[in-house]
Amino acid sequence: MSVSSFRVDVPAGSVLFHQGDPPTSAFLLESGSIEVTTAQGAESRRLGVLGPGDLLGEMAVLDDSPRTATARALSDCVLMPIDRKQFAERLESADPVVRALLLSQISRYRSALAQLSGQGEPVTAPLPTPRSGDAALALDKIRLESHLREALDKGELEVRLQPILDIARNRIAGFEALTRWTHPERGPVSPAEFIALAEETSLIVPVGDYVLDQVCGALQQLQGRDGAEPVFVALNVSGRQLGDAALLDRFLATLRAHGLQPAQLKIEITESLVLDYDQVAGIIARCHAAGIKVALDDFGTGYSNLGHLHRLEFDTLKMDQGFVRQMHEPRCLAIVRAVVAMAHSLGCNIVAEGVETQAQLQALGELGCKYAQGYLIGKPLPLDEAVALSRESGMGNRES
Ligand code: C2E
Ligand code: MG
Ligand code: MG
Repeated sequence: MSVSSFRVDVPAGSVLFHQGDPPTSAFLLESGSIEVTTAQGAESRRLGVLGPGDLLGEMAVLDDSPRTATARALSDCVLMPIDRKQFAERLESADPVVRALLLSQISRYRSALAQLSGQGEPVTAPLPTPRSGDAALALDKIRLESHLREALDKGELEVRLQPILDIARNRIAGFEALTRWTHPERGPVSPAEFIALAEETSLIVPVGDYVLDQVCGALQQLQGRDGAEPVFVALNVSGRQLGDAALLDRFLATLRAHGLQPAQLKIEITESLVLDYDQVAGIIARCHAAGIKVALDDFGTGYSNLGHLHRLEFDTLKMDQGFVRQMHEPRCLAIVRAVVAMAHSLGCNIVAEGVETQAQLQALGELGCKYAQGYLIGKPLPLDEAVALSRESGMGNRES
């Protein structure tokens, strides 16, 4: 057998490694074929025959344990060694759920092999870069994901509506839909957490559809009075949803099924997602063609690339609550003034988020900011309270 750091040549009949050997590296079989066997008492049992493109010896390298099988060349073989560090680095950066699954699979496989060879339970070393609690965290995540799935099936997600005020007219102009989930044991789970969790899997698609359905139901009630003008609800759309080519068609079909106009729905795209400018510009164009308006959410917190703003024809800028909170500082006030002026010159509406005090509201009004959203105006409300508020306010169809 000849070995270099890039290539191992194994003549037919030779053994690459024996069961029980310490792990050195894993191998990618480039050519030839290799038989993998394990000792069962005095006998040898064939586990399989590997060919070009197959990986071998990776298990012992992953968990730093002795080889569980013997690898013998059936013909002249060429292999590429794969350093343990290469795996360790990838494992380190892998999804903790994937890492936990891998760990559990390896230990199960080792147990099965040990029983097969009559050695009882093997002692396995931990994965190369063990992190305490990592597996427990991963399992918590899987558990939470299952609970979210169940909550969705049972209709336990609640969509609340937070009012948006037309400052000059002192009237409620519309609402933003914000989803709430109360976990049976953990209590309220923040949407930042469960939306991110849903985003990691395809669960965001049914969650998004559910929220849209609830929003459409809410819109029907909000426009309830005879002669009242249509009202809007703004819906947050997350990253994976933006990549869903069928999303807009589903929006339009759901609106139609509820007898609503597209103009009654607005979508909000958070600024940190606006990285793929072409994709977002395409979505905005398709929304506009369908009659749906689009807001840039949390403006000023993400990758505020002003160089691209002219290409992205948002209808509304939602200024992040961080600016409003610090408006008492002259430098922050100067930024708020500039953002309001920029929105006006781009022909966009502007909503100030996180308005909590009368002083903030007054200052925003004086700066010419048209809309305000925040606890001062109202917290995210259950549907019946939102309907009552909109009626009190005599809501009409004002743009935001
Ligand atoms: P967002 O879209 O920027 O929503 C505004 C957040 O600020 C909401 O947090 C709201 O409750 C909170 N907020 C509003 N007024 C005030 C205020 O005066 N003071 C303070 N401190 N906070 C205020 P929430 O409901 O926790 O939602 C967090 C984020 O989760 C949202 O940020 C949105 O990006 C996302 N989200 C919520 N519901 C959904 C949903 O149904 N789908 C998607 N894709 N994302 C959602
Ligand atoms: Mg939003
Ligand atoms: Mg926001």
